[in-house]
Amino acid sequence: MTKRPIIVIGSGVAGSVVAGTLARECAAPIVVLEAGDSADSLLDSSSRTLSFVDSLARSSTRRDDLLVRRTASQAPKSYPAGCGIGGSGEINALVASWGMAGDVRGWGENAPMGIWSVDDWKRELGGLEHDLRTAGEGEWGPMDRALVSSCVEGGIARHDSLWNDQFMPEGVGTVTLFARGDHRSTGVDALVKPGIAAGRMRVDRGALVDRLVVRDEMICGVELSTGEFVDARAVVMCGGAFGSVELLQRSGIVPDGVHGVQDHPAVALVTREPIMQQSVLSIGAIGRLSVDSGVGNVHLVSMNATAPGEVSHGALLVALMDVTSRGSIIRHEDGSVSRNLDMLSTQSERHVLVQALRRVVSIVGRMEDRLGTGFQLSEKSESVGWLASASNNEIEEWIMATCGVYAHAASSLPLGGEYLDRHGAVRSVDGVWVADASVMPRLIAGNPTLAIAALAKVIARSVAGATAAS
Ligand SMILES: Cc1cc2nc3c(=O)[nH]c(=O)nc-3n(C[C@H](O)[C@H](O)[C@H](O)COP(=O)(O)OP(=O)(O)OC[C@H]3O[C@@H](n4cnc5c(N)ncnc54)[C@H](O)[C@@H]3O)c2cc1C
Repeated sequence: MTKRPIIVIGSGVAGSVVAGTLARECAAPIVVLEAGDSADSLLDSSSRTLSFVDSLARSSTRRDDLLVRRTASQAPKSYPAGCGIGGSGEINALVASWGMAGDVRGWGENAPMGIWSVDDWKRELGGLEHDLRTAGEGEWGPMDRALVSSCVEGGIARHDSLWNDQFMPEGVGTVTLFARGDHRSTGVDALVKPGIAAGRMRVDRGALVDRLVVRDEMICGVELSTGEFVDARAVVMCGGAFGSVELLQRSGIVPDGVHGVQDHPAVALVTREPIMQQSVLSIGAIGRLSVDSGVGNVHLVSMNATAPGEVSHGALLVALMDVTSRGSIIRHEDGSVSRNLDMLSTQSERHVLVQALRRVVSIVGRMEDRLGTGFQLSEKSESVGWLASASNNEIEEWIMATCGVYAHAASSLPLGGEYLDRHGAVRSVDGVWVADASVMPRLIAGNPTLAIAALAKVIARSVAGATAAS
């Protein structure tokens, strides 16, 4: 490779799409710099399990140093994130979704050029349809079966294409997975491997980018944590919603305090007794509810297992999907970083979650009968029946103290906002783009991987166009 390369930082969901697209559409060589050292996914797709509980337990593909505060009532805790080829796609729960119809419309003028509806997204991602498949009922675990039959008995319609139906306000059914047969798909097979095979792309593992090197407001290259300089004609940042902000902060390109990051808050109702789990799917079914005049604003997620092995507690997650709260990423003088999601900072978000929990009590009652075990609130010994008798304030207090994340961090550097233009280009430096979860103008009311991949594709084409002449 003699010509100055385009560097892609991070080889997660967005990085794979960007690198694969650039390798097809640009004459310049593509170099992917990935902090993680694991090559499993790249070399051997059979190493990719469908179980996200098992994937999460593998330290080689997990980042353990990310501490994040969920709500104002909580102390910072470890945040799940992937590290290595495939990024968080290596450890995620594989649930595909296009979100709700209002999501992209709600982005308004900050939606990227040419993207006005989910049909536009689908056209963009045409090549990835082989990386999705719908789970068969035979693959379900005990919590999936209990959730679906209990919801249907309670009047919620069975719908096995919820992932692809942005208008259905309520339903329950099987999930569509990012999977090829028995293996999780991360976009690496479809996008990264062909680029390497064609000699158009190189992937360097264990390459942690420390900062971008800029001269006269123009990108020159990047500096790795080892001090090594890597020359570049352009840089596309795909380090994730935290990683990209922090790298821009270290490089002095955005301020030390950046406000915007979002996630879906989720509370857990856990079986009192461990249950037998023989399905490889940690999550095989999902429910969608419309609560308090929202549309599809709550997810019910059946977790067949909460730990690796055949016997563990099951859990029902109740997640708020229509989020308005935004948190911040703050870099301190000593180089340390405070990450604060500040979830559920508005009264209306807390109210929706409380109403959702009150509604879920009867569904959980039916699940208890089917599973032969009671459920209790996470980090509290009370049974789920407590939700029916407790005051709104008491429930809110429990939610704020214990709610976790759906691990969908996004929207820390929204398109068309203070730092990026509508094409993902960094406003203050020529030759730098951001193309990962950070750029979503507002977090969609669904599992975000498909939207992240679609945004990455549009931005990559924009980069290809802008760098063609240079
Ligand atoms: C446990 C879990 C479950 C999830 N379940 C689902 C689900 O079921 N469905 C769904 O749609 N979404 C799910 N998600 C979310 C989804 O996986 C993420 O939103 C998506 O992977 C984000 O893509 P990304 O490309 O922005 O970042 P990532 O995929 O996280 O990739 C970022 C990559 O950049 C690398 N990197 C970061 N900084 C640097 C640096 N300075 N130098 C070099 N490399 C760097 C990282 O090592 C990483 O590999 C889940 C996530 C987790 C963690």
